[in-house]
Amino acid sequence: MSESVSTNKAKETVRKEIRSEPLETQIDRIMELQLEKGYGIPNDGTYFEVPDKMVMFYKYSYGMQSRFFREVKENARLMASVCRKCGTVYFPPRAHCGECYVETEWREISHEGIVMHATTSWYATSEFFDKVPYAVGYVKPLDADTGILQRIDLGIRETIKPGTRVIAVFAEKRKGKASDFWYRVKE
Ligand SMILES: [Zn+2]
Repeated sequence: MSESVSTNKAKETVRKEIRSEPLETQIDRIMELQLEKGYGIPNDGTYFEVPDKMVMFYKYSYGMQSRFFREVKENARLMASVCRKCGTVYFPPRAHCGECYVETEWREISHEGIVMHATTSWYATSEFFDKVPYAVGYVKPLDADTGILQRIDLGIRETIKPGTRVIAVFAEKRKGKASDFWYRVKE
């Protein structure tokens, strides 16, 4: 029992170190390991292989969804899109209505929502290690017709069920990413 606790502590320390380590140092450390493992040693006796590194910076576009991410980042506002013909309110927004094939228009939407479906997650990628356990679910804002798949923070022993009322929470430093906001249970 105590061994497992100390193992977990050690793992957590390593995770913290990795997160605080600058990217260049991380790359260099990985390179060192690669070099120790097999610099110049042909892996099948034929070809001579040298480990090397490649760093790539790139941009991607949100296209017609751009306003949604800009409003979240700059104004902590949630934007949905409304079909000009049938009035369906889409959240997350869609550029066109899938039923009427017409363009939609923007509309600000409530931060309060209702959970449609949810499940609790007990594992995570490095970005969310410290959030475990948390719920992931479809949340439909009070004034929308569709829901968004988003993280829902759990309090102590909170259970998320269909119909649970939640409210949006925004990160202090927003980067224009889907993880800039999430939900928590509304008291
Ligand atoms: Zn429509």
